[in-house]
Amino acid sequence: MAKRVIWGRPKKTIERHAKEDLCRFGEIQEELFYKAPRGRLRKAKAVRTSEEIRKSGFPKKGEKMAIHTHIGKPGESLASIPSIRDLKTIIELYYWYGIKTQAISRISDEGKEIGRTIIRVKVKDREKLLWLWRELSVKEYAKELGLINGKAWPKACYEVFKRWCKHSYISVKFFPAEGYYYNKKLGDFIPRKRSIREFFTFLFKNLVK
Ligand SMILES: [Zn+2]
Repeated sequence: MAKRVIWGRPKKTIERHAKEDLCRFGEIQEELFYKAPRGRLRKAKAVRTSEEIRKSGFPKKGEKMAIHTHIGKPGESLASIPSIRDLKTIIELYYWYGIKTQAISRISDEGKEIGRTIIRVKVKDREKLLWLWRELSVKEYAKELGLINGKAWPKACYEVFKRWCKHSYISVKFFPAEGYYYNKKLGDFIPRKRSIREFFTFLFKNLVK
């Protein structure tokens, strides 16, 4: 059994907001939260759509973790992997606010949390951080110029992500929610298949409740 990362009750807050926004804007949204160790989740006033990023919330003193949501059907290709924009935010938050840990909360299209991707920055050298940030900007610029098309973009992001893991610029762990597992091929969490026996045990347990 994979170890579960607990941020307790506030988990529900993520789920609720994710669903609300999905209805309100009719577009995939990434919600941003901050959290101090053992503290409650605080929702940052940020709307991050695929087209634009509007930020009005910054971390407060003591907050050590930033969490944002990725919404979509379970098993969506590379949906649990940070985008290049996400990697940029990871560098920025560490550089300016000392926030080392970033979490992606994977929310299904039904508003249920199906897993978490936890990313930690391993680079301490500030020059090196700037250098990495610039590398990402160059990639983004290449996309703007049309050198990388929209379809190829998720894969381009994945390539950078894999390289960063390989060079230990970041460390990454995938924590599936109960009933799910992380599928490496897809880069996302998918429902765990149950045997018939397990299914009935599950059904019985829930009926008894
Ligand atoms: Zn993201």
